Amino acid sequence: MVAHKPSIYAAFTGRNASSFVTLENNIRQLLLVRSHYSHAVPFIEVGMVVDISNVYQIPDMIRYAESLGVDGIRFQNFISPNQHEKSLHTIYSNYKKAKQFLASLSEKDYGIQVILPPVLDQDMSKHRNCKDPHTMVSITGDMHVSPCSRHALHKELTDNVWDDAFWNSTTYQRLRLLHGKSTDTVPLPCQNCPKNVAQSPRILNDRNAVEEPVTPLHQKTAML
Ligand code: SF4
Repeated sequence: MVAHKPSIYAAFTGRNASSFVTLENNIRQLLLVRSHYSHAVPFIEVGMVVDISNVYQIPDMIRYAESLGVDGIRFQNFISPNQHEKSLHTIYSNYKKAKQFLASLSEKDYGIQVILPPVLDQDMSKHRNCKDPHTMVSITGDMHVSPCSRHALHKELTDNVWDDAFWNSTTYQRLRLLHGKSTDTVPLPCQNCPKNVAQSPRILNDRNAVEEPVTPLHQKTAML
């Protein structure tokens, strides 16, 4: 959903604020359809984007998600639109006020699952924590597949969804190595990417913050 208010949605996405209303109605419809079959599957969560200016609205966003009736809310740190440069809007770990605020949120109880935004380090050149090469099949409109959910390494999109062996293609294997045993410096897009952060606090409804596990491919989750 990106945001919990039409005005913020429009500012973040550049789309018409009326699209927010359509999106919200679609979520309500989805929840209604699910209620006719089962109340547990699929797990439905909304995704929000926060930056250094609106991170303090997270409690309002959680209350909004609870009022919608979804199962969880997942926050993403603002990502620089330029994959090769940092953004002043991104929340970094040396921003003490924002970091303390996020830490205080993990002490609270919520009626739904909350995943707080991963906070980037200023220097992530030595980080190699992206799980996407092991879990992600991101498909473009022309049916190319990428192990990188940001498509930040777009020039490497040579594998096609119809290729039987794309899951273990050179691209997949290279990225698995890069975010595994390799000692090479990761590319600049990975240095500006929240997926390369070691862990995201996942707050269950019992005050426990645990490391976010790798999402299994078969997990039935609808992210909106
Ligand atoms: S860390 Fe790198 S490979 Fe992983 S999603 Fe980000 S840009 Fe793509």
